[in-house]
Amino acid sequence: MTALIKEHAREGIWMRQVPVPEPGPNDLLIRVRKSSICGTDVHIYNWDAWSSQTIPLGMVVGHEYVGTVAGMGSEVRGFQMGDRVSGEGHITCGHCRNCRAGRRHLCRNTQGVGVNRPGSFAEYLVIPAFNAFRIPENIPDDVAAIFDPFGNAVHTALSFDLVAEDVLITGAGPIGVMAAAIARHAGARNVVITDVNDYRLDLARQMGATRAVNVAREDLWTVAQTELGMTEGFDVGLEMSGNGAAFRQLLHSMNHGGKVALLGIPAGDVQIDWNDVIFKGLTLKGIYGREMFETWYKMAALVQSGLDLSPVITHHYGIQDFQQGFDMMRGGQSGKVILDWE
Ligand code: NAD
Ligand code: ZN
Repeated sequence: MTALIKEHAREGIWMRQVPVPEPGPNDLLIRVRKSSICGTDVHIYNWDAWSSQTIPLGMVVGHEYVGTVAGMGSEVRGFQMGDRVSGEGHITCGHCRNCRAGRRHLCRNTQGVGVNRPGSFAEYLVIPAFNAFRIPENIPDDVAAIFDPFGNAVHTALSFDLVAEDVLITGAGPIGVMAAAIARHAGARNVVITDVNDYRLDLARQMGATRAVNVAREDLWTVAQTELGMTEGFDVGLEMSGNGAAFRQLLHSMNHGGKVALLGIPAGDVQIDWNDVIFKGLTLKGIYGREMFETWYKMAALVQSGLDLSPVITHHYGIQDFQQGFDMMRGGQSGKVILDWE
């Protein structure tokens, strides 16, 4: 079958023929229809310090997808051939304390699809049936294909009560702009999002942000006070940039007692002013992945209750044109980029 693999220890990704994976007794074989490009795939493409230490050469990359069940192991129950599915990309061990307590997203032995085991930039993919999520009929393929990053946005945004609250999101990448839409949908009052990229700030406006602030040109707190009438600070902060300056600004802009969820992954050490955390009594919560599988049910229900994610899907490419898709993602002038396999 055709797949995109990390063949060489340098910048790039390569289309090659590899064997179709064999499902084990508890696995599903999924025929991939669409697979979108994640920031993680861009790190792997760029062969940065993290990926060169993590990704074995020859790995089939990709983990955001929708497809149909094309085969299954003898022990699998609850799925039928042809079912439309996406899947949780974190494969958990099932025997650590958190797994046994039902907190799978906190498993200490997590393996990543398209990182530690073959992924979804391929005609076929094998995952444990446990990780598969059947997509309700009224959810389009494009939206199902981005359930993985949508789940990051849902898990982060719904960490704290948003109803009638003022929410600050730092970073208008695909996940940040989806979080803006979720926060509005969930009943937040002001949803302010920051970035330094005007294309993405525009996208955030389309997704429903109350105000999108380019922090390279505008002062966040002046905007919040003069335009939105805020006097005390934000109630909930969602850090979705991985940028140290953005994180410091977020902490500084929180009201006393504010709640902060951290999704963005910094490239190195980040210094913050701990006085902001301590004297304001802030709550900080780290976010990894999605809750298994509560976040997945919330995702489906949010879409079914009218949340519109379509503006975030800005580009499609046939799989032969994967290079253009990666170039588009690397250029920063895009939301989600989907590769069409069928
Ligand atoms: P992305 O890199 O596309 O978006 C980050 C955005 O932050 C960019 O648009 C960038 O311009 C912006 N930014 C840079 N400097 C800024 C500043 N000073 N102020 C405000 N914004 C600034 O990333 P994404 O795919 O949307 O993901 C968001 C973050 O979440 C990334 O850091 C990613 O690595 C991380 N992530 C974490 C998990 C997890 O499980 N914890 C999962 C997926 C992604
Ligand atoms: Zn575990």
